[in-house]
Amino acid sequence: MGLRRNRFGSFVVGEMPEGCRLCVRGAKLVLFLTGLCRRSCFYCPLSSLRRGKDVVYANERPIRSTRQLLKEAELMDAQGTGITGGDPSLRFRRLLRYLRVLKRELGPEHHVHLYCTELSRERLRRLREEGLDEIRFHAWSPEPVRKAVEEGLNCGVELPSLPGSFRVLTRLLKELEGAGCSFVNLNELEFSETNSLELRRRGFRLKSLDSVAVKGSEELALRVLEWALENTELNLHYCPSRLKDGVQLRNRLKRRARKVARPYEALTSEGLLVKGVIEGLPPSELEAGRRRLIRKYGIPPELLSVNRRRVRLETSPEVAERLSERERGLSFSWVESYPTFDGVEVTVIPLPLRGRGTRGTSGSP
Ligand code: SF4
Repeated sequence: MGLRRNRFGSFVVGEMPEGCRLCVRGAKLVLFLTGLCRRSCFYCPLSSLRRGKDVVYANERPIRSTRQLLKEAELMDAQGTGITGGDPSLRFRRLLRYLRVLKRELGPEHHVHLYCTELSRERLRRLREEGLDEIRFHAWSPEPVRKAVEEGLNCGVELPSLPGSFRVLTRLLKELEGAGCSFVNLNELEFSETNSLELRRRGFRLKSLDSVAVKGSEELALRVLEWALENTELNLHYCPSRLKDGVQLRNRLKRRARKVARPYEALTSEGLLVKGVIEGLPPSELEAGRRRLIRKYGIPPELLSVNRRRVRLETSPEVAERLSERERGLSFSWVESYPTFDGVEVTVIPLPLRGRGTRGTSGSP
């Protein structure tokens, strides 16, 4: 079949794993089950907010219940879930509970894959009985895979592509093939706030100033894939850093944005939401201010709402721009935000835009 770059920008030998197929389309919910882990991999990218902490997130939403998990799945129209951590096996009862609910409420076709380190046969059996579709070990040995395959699970290995590890990786691939492994997923190694000191100490450097990827990681992965073409029957997938941030995340944001956008919010090609914001009214006058603007400018009511938490009115970018030229006592801006649970605002552009003249004085915005 040959080494080929697919339309998402990753490289595949053989078949892409089903879990990755849904992930690159942004259709997988990321269930972070716990930040706990017994290992201390020098390249661990977990943020300081999550590492070592027993917290649960569905995408960016901190959750405490299966109800909140299902809500997040609904808001992004998830077709599958990737359960990750930390090491989710350290909270096994929680893992079984969430897996059971996903399969029961979203249907057996909701594809669930799990990342973990090692599991006993008994636990592997329980996961199979609950309908787990795919298990991915973060392991530099074939032993966890052997056990999981014997217990009837569809099993793969996921590792970072560490520059200088060609011989270790190719030897491991041979052993994994012998153990019945279905696929190996290599990720481009990345600098993060928590691993950068250690990576630098070991001589790793940034690939370029506009990327967090490590120099030489992609070259190593492609060399391993070329080798695999001739030397194994294993399915291999190389996932570059730009795919995760550029394609997978953007697709996931777009899915969620389409579900959660208010009537006055516009969706950007990056999957972010843009709205107009009106500030300068005290909390007690927000409602009256909204009614006045609706009346005065004939704004459709669904295009102007009160955001009490942020003490402001929100509207469409167009309405905000037009009003900014007429309502001198208020301040206006365009705000670009993530369509995620935390709704992080990334860009604020004050209005009116400089260099633009007023657009007439009629009543309608
Ligand atoms: S197993 Fe995963 S979560 Fe645990 S230290 Fe290694 S990279 Fe981090």
